[in-house]
Amino acid sequence: MQVLENKVAIVTGAGRGIGRAIALAYAKAGASAVIVGRTAQTIEAVAAEIIALGGSALAVRADLAQDADIQRVIDVTLQRFGSIDLLVNNAGIIPPFVDLVDYDPRMWREVININLTAPALLIRGVLPDMIARRSGKIINISSIGGRNGGKSRSAYRASKAGLINLTQSVAAEVKVHGIDVNCICPGGVDTEGLLESFGAERLNKRDPLIKPEEIAELALFLASPASSSITGTSIDAFGLSNPIFRPLP
Ligand code: NAP
Repeated sequence: MQVLENKVAIVTGAGRGIGRAIALAYAKAGASAVIVGRTAQTIEAVAAEIIALGGSALAVRADLAQDADIQRVIDVTLQRFGSIDLLVNNAGIIPPFVDLVDYDPRMWREVININLTAPALLIRGVLPDMIARRSGKIINISSIGGRNGGKSRSAYRASKAGLINLTQSVAAEVKVHGIDVNCICPGGVDTEGLLESFGAERLNKRDPLIKPEEIAELALFLASPASSSITGTSIDAFGLSNPIFRPLP
């Protein structure tokens, strides 16, 4: 029996990067994967890749800034698969480097909306089904940036710190219903999103990046029965971005 056999997993932002790697890992472990994103081409390609491997997948186009789209993701998943066992809140915006004084208020709101409010509303949406079945696992993808503030990163780091605290609050509320809520805080991961935000020059100066598949392995552990003693936890997966590797001045 595969570790996620008969499980149904919603993975947001699964058309590329970390989300794609998690969706593939879950599908290879036996789950039906609901691939959520705005870009039809990428989410359909990931769903097709999973189906070609003999797995089960459904691409659902959704803009998580829209409450109606969040509800549709949940409704379509329940209609097609009948339950929701796993939710991975991975979709996120990695914004450019901007000091707060120069921040466009619309951009600030968008970062908080997609990185923090949408995960909260998705959790709120999946909980009734999970509570009714007294089972479920929710995994939030925060960031090394959620652990402390940093220059020109105010909106991103505030949103990711919020996600760590959201994880703890919800975990405390739902353990009584048999549901675990955990968080992963990756360091630099080799994705298009990181490249677009940081630029090649900044990235070339950094230590080697983590592979998306390495984060997917951790997300697989947190989705599996092996992690049954863990809830409300945020796991640092900093790789070589870990400050312990920085030379002393
Ligand atoms: P990515 O390559 O930019 O992928 C982000 C995904 O989120 C895309 O598939 C995008 O799809 C989706 N998305 C963005 N806005 C959305 C919206 N409004 N509605 C629906 N989907 C939306 O990013 P990544 O590097 O894989 O990062 C994934 C997560 O890990 C993010 O939360 C990020 O903050 C976090 N993280 C990344 C790193 C890193 O170094 N890469 C480190 C720490 C944490 P569409 O554009 O098609 O909608």
